[in-house]
Amino acid sequence: MFNRDDYVSDGRWQNFLEVSKGFETPNIFIDLATIKQHFIQVKDSFPYAYFYYAIKANPGVPVIRMLDELGSNFDIASRYELDLVLSLGISPDRISYGNTIKKAADVEYFYSKGVRMFATDSKEDLKNIARYAPGSRVYVRILVENSSTADWPLSRKFGCHPDMAYDLLVLARDSGLTPYGISFHVGSQQRDIGQWNDAIAKTKYLFESLEQEEQIRLSMINMGGGFPAHYIQPTNELSDYASEITRYLHDDFGDDIPMIVFEPGRSLVGDSGILTSEVVLISRKNNTALQRWVYLDAGKFNGLIETLDESIKYPVITTKDGSKEGEVILAGPTCDSADIMYEDFKYRLPLDLKIGDKVYWLSTGAYTQTYASVGFNGFPPIQAYYITENGIEDAAGNKVE
Ligand SMILES: *Cc1c(COP(=O)(O)O)cnc(C)c1O
Repeated sequence: MFNRDDYVSDGRWQNFLEVSKGFETPNIFIDLATIKQHFIQVKDSFPYAYFYYAIKANPGVPVIRMLDELGSNFDIASRYELDLVLSLGISPDRISYGNTIKKAADVEYFYSKGVRMFATDSKEDLKNIARYAPGSRVYVRILVENSSTADWPLSRKFGCHPDMAYDLLVLARDSGLTPYGISFHVGSQQRDIGQWNDAIAKTKYLFESLEQEEQIRLSMINMGGGFPAHYIQPTNELSDYASEITRYLHDDFGDDIPMIVFEPGRSLVGDSGILTSEVVLISRKNNTALQRWVYLDAGKFNGLIETLDESIKYPVITTKDGSKEGEVILAGPTCDSADIMYEDFKYRLPLDLKIGDKVYWLSTGAYTQTYASVGFNGFPPIQAYYITENGIEDAAGNKVE
């Protein structure tokens, strides 16, 4: 049903088959070279911008180490992520606390570790920042409405109306903080580039009115993530995103473009992963049923949570591709009926697929292994392995024999 070539090159595929041989399934192999390539590409596409990798997308130590070496900064959402990044020797001035939902104790903790850049979208949170992180830079996340074109929307829960953002930035100044900028996230896997245009226009209005009415001169626009990985639904190339977004910025800000920050997650790591699952059972629900149920040892609870509502549609391939195919319903191994990956959208797999065969899920480097449950039904969390220049490492960065 899918052409492996469209997602993974021959060389990478052969190397993957070689190194993944003998590992118990389900597992995910992350190719660091692919992540490096994507990071260099996004940097080259936006030469004027700063990058804060949103580590929740794939917090594997080998990934963080490599992006650190390549000069990335880091967007952190919890004290646990903070501890991880600091433990790798990354300095707190390269870290931004991008989560608007946090406890006062978390703010205090980040401040005590040297972090001085905080996102907010509410008065109560801003008060905590003023109190526990005095003098820090704050940026306010605004709501961007139309997320129907994002496959994994991140709006609604985060951000506030621009009018409220205005008030919060005034309050920030009046509480001794540094009103630093505006942020937004147009939704993850955003296929409509025009979404950035609307968001940048709102940002421009805030920059202008705060300067004119309050003499507050903001410095930064943080555009979050949203750039796509390669799943089955087509998207524009990153170069199209870059040329359009750069044009929107010039349209609104002329030559006086503020500091621009991106927080890519999915677009950096998504394409790097191959999840290997094994067929546990194939059945039909009645003697003449046209569809087969294919149950795999990977499912919603161990790596494939983003199949929720069939939101992210991964390319799925088998070693028997090329033979005659039929429609399947793809489900996981647990005793929860929510553990069905695809039922409405019709995947087709070879008719000669057998129990014990391998089924490969491509583009599974983002939002997979750390999204797995710790042991639902006793199934352990899926293991991730990282293909580095020096061999295979586990998520903690230890060598694997
Ligand atoms: C998750 C997240 C990102 C990353 O978004 P992607 O669409 O995966 O690139 C960036 N910024 C914030 C604040 C996030 O929560």
